[in-house]
Amino acid sequence: MSPSKQQEPNQLQRSVNGLPMKISLSTAVKRSSGDTSEVRATDLLEALAICEPQPATSARCLNPSCSNRCSWNGEKGRPKKFCSDTCRQKHETTRRRLEEEISIIDGVMDNPQTRPGQRKVLSSHRAQRAFELARYPDVRGPRTVSSPLVRTPR
Ligand SMILES: [Zn+2]
Repeated sequence: MSPSKQQEPNQLQRSVNGLPMKISLSTAVKRSSGDTSEVRATDLLEALAICEPQPATSARCLNPSCSNRCSWNGEKGRPKKFCSDTCRQKHETTRRRLEEEISIIDGVMDNPQTRPGQRKVLSSHRAQRAFELARYPDVRGPRTVSSPLVRTPR
């Protein structure tokens, strides 16, 4: 090992001269593993412990009209997205309603009998719904697909 690959002892500290030092994970990994291209688990674990920002342990409920927070539930199950079943249902109901309304508007806008003036007004109604729909992304995650090996009972 050449002397240039050696790390200074203070390189991985969280603060420099009493001031907090922000270090991204990729920078921390590079400093831990030096010039080696392969990242070892020990280097990554060291980097994960010192990198900033650390991941959040709580976050807002994904229902845009709710201000409650969801806590990180450790490694148990899927990450909690909503503070309650009510919020999850409201989110899904609103998302589906907006998608349906946009679909109805699109259908009439595509009709050749719709006049340009009407199309302009419809476009505005559509844009407002799209604006709201952007706050209601599909957060259901991958769907459960039944295995082709499972036979349905007759
Ligand atoms: Zn909520």
